[in-house]
Amino acid sequence: TPTVGVLALQGDVREHLTALESVGARAATVRRPAELAAVDGLVIPGGESTTIDKLLRIFELDDLLRARIKEGLPVYGSCAGMILLADRILDGTADQQTLGGMDVVVRRNAFGRQVDSFETDLEFAGISDVDAEAGDAPTGSGRPGGPVRTAFIRAPWIEEAGRDVEVLARIPAVDTQGRPVAAAGRIVAARQGPLLATAFHPEITGDTRVHGLFVSIVAGG
Ligand code: GLN
Repeated sequence: TPTVGVLALQGDVREHLTALESVGARAATVRRPAELAAVDGLVIPGGESTTIDKLLRIFELDDLLRARIKEGLPVYGSCAGMILLADRILDGTADQQTLGGMDVVVRRNAFGRQVDSFETDLEFAGISDVDAEAGDAPTGSGRPGGPVRTAFIRAPWIEEAGRDVEVLARIPAVDTQGRPVAAAGRIVAARQGPLLATAFHPEITGDTRVHGLFVSIVAGG
């Protein structure tokens, strides 16, 4: 059983621990270098990317985590966590740094005021399109196939993705009533090797399949 850490400096840590355990991982909080050294994968939760950035530096985890990312540590960043995994960001604060690792440009608070926060169903490559009968669904989800239930909370989006980045989900062109969507086509989930990022929070909707996908990446998938 892989041990998956959840970076526990700020943000919604507990929901990720619960989701990880529900898909069969051993979950542990990470606040100190020794705790980081002990995990096989790491979740960087949503919260406030500027605060997590500052705390990473104060807790002296920033360079250690950069080094482990370079060595190939699987990391899943959700929302603020996605911002931290980006090589480049737009609309960050003046002194804001990221860990980097993913060849993407991420825009903070991209969805603007009117749609600050919303829930929606999204087609997610490798999850929505799996054939449950063939047994290729991410582990432990209990919900094979079909769109993923997602929550966006002052969310970023991926504005540009490099060649090695696999796009996993985009905002659809129209909403459920067939009305055009302003953010149509924006990239909101992506993977680059062992790094996974989503603009949204899956941990608060009860849909654990993104965590299942991440745990399968940690397990070598
Ligand atoms: N807007 C936040 C930031 O810039 C992210 C919000 C979230 O993680 N839910 O870090």
